[in-house]
Order: sequence, then C-alpha cells, then structure tokens
Amino acid sequence: LFITLEGGEGSGKTTVIEELGRALEQRGVPYVITREPGGIEIAEKIRGIILDPMHTAMEGRTEALLYAAARRQHLVEKVEPALERGMVVLCDRFIDSSLAYQGYARGLGVQEVLTINSFATNGRFPDHTFYMDIDPEQGLSRIAAGQGREVNRLDLESIEFHQKVREGYLIVADMYPQRITTIDASRAKKEVAAEINNCLSALLKD
Ligand code: C5P
Ligand code: MG
Repeated sequence: LFITLEGGEGSGKTTVIEELGRALEQRGVPYVITREPGGIEIAEKIRGIILDPMHTAMEGRTEALLYAAARRQHLVEKVEPALERGMVVLCDRFIDSSLAYQGYARGLGVQEVLTINSFATNGRFPDHTFYMDIDPEQGLSRIAAGQGREVNRLDLESIEFHQKVREGYLIVADMYPQRITTIDASRAKKEVAAEINNCLSALLKD
C-alpha cells in the first residue's frame, strides 16, 4: 500500500506521518517512512540543489525537472522495492506536490507537469493520498514558531505564492476525488493523525 501525505508549509505532514508509523508499528504492520524530494542519497543531493537558498536563479522548468528526476530515482530505488516486499510506504510528498507547486503556483501548467511526471513515474500513482489543508497564514506561523523545519529557498516566497499552492492542491484534489482525501489540518496534530489513522485502517482492510 502506497500512501502519500501532501500539503503546504507547516501543514504538519512530517509530524503526522511519524504518528501513523507508530500506529502501524503497534499493530505489527511492516512499513517504511520516506520523503520527497529525497529519501535516498541521489535524491537527497538533488533536494539540496533545488532548495539551496543561494540558488535564486533556478528557473521553473529546471526546478520541475529536478523534482521529477529525484522522484524517479526514489521510486525505483526505495518505494517500489518496499511495496514488492509487502510493506506499507508512507511518503511525505509525491507527484501532487509538483502539480500544486510547479504546475499551478509557478504557472507551468498542471497538465504539462503531469506529463513529465508520468514519464518519471511510468504512470504509477499512490494508492491513496491525504491532502492536509491549512490556511498558509496559520501554516507559516507554525514554522515561525519553531514547530516546522529548516529554512529553505521557498521561505523567500510571498504569502500569495503559498495561497496559490493551496488553490493548486484543491484543484488537484478535485481531479482525483477517489484517490485524494482532504483533511482539515488546522486542528491539533494528534486529532489530524487520529482521523488519518482511521482511514488508513479501512484501506488496510480492503
Ligand atoms: O515538505 P518539505 O518542507 O520537506 O519540502 C521542502 C520544500 O520544498 C518546501 O519548502 C516545499 O514547499 C518545497 N517544494 C516545492 N515543490 C515541490 C515539493 C516541495 O516547492 N514539488
Ligand atoms: Mg515536513
């Protein structure tokens, strides 16, 4: 079972994924937690190039192609082998991040970005995706309050950019109503994790 978590800055994906991992652990379900861009050495190096705050000259299509390249390597080297061994893969971001950030917010076009990513993933999609929806003002304030992660190039973006990312995600969630569940991520992370965990239990029974 291939599960991805999606959402804007400070939506709580990383914290919630760890909670989900603990819940699977308790039930004796084998799983791996991983993230994009990254998760394996080559992709973590690409992540470093993309997110380097010095790389202000990085052009939109370059960025989109680097994300797709990191995705390809991570998918074949880590995600697919784990799925073949029957593990649950919990992945922090995947293709929908590219559709929302590069396709919609950066204006490259959702369909265009979907095309390069279909090449990268050879058509593989997650079995299910949880989109953690939050007002960017609230998300960014969590990061400012130190509940988030390290500073990166995206922190130079305006609030308008992050609003566009949210709009992009809502459009993508409408494109894939079966696969993507939208979660209200403005609530306490324990509550959010409990809701997703219930959905996950149902998916494991299928
Ligand atoms: O989720 P995480 O904070 O690790 O993501 C790292 C950074 O990469 C974030 O600032 C996120 O907004 C950005 N990103 C992006 N486009 C993607 C995936 C991530 O701009 N497709
Ligand atoms: Mg995170």
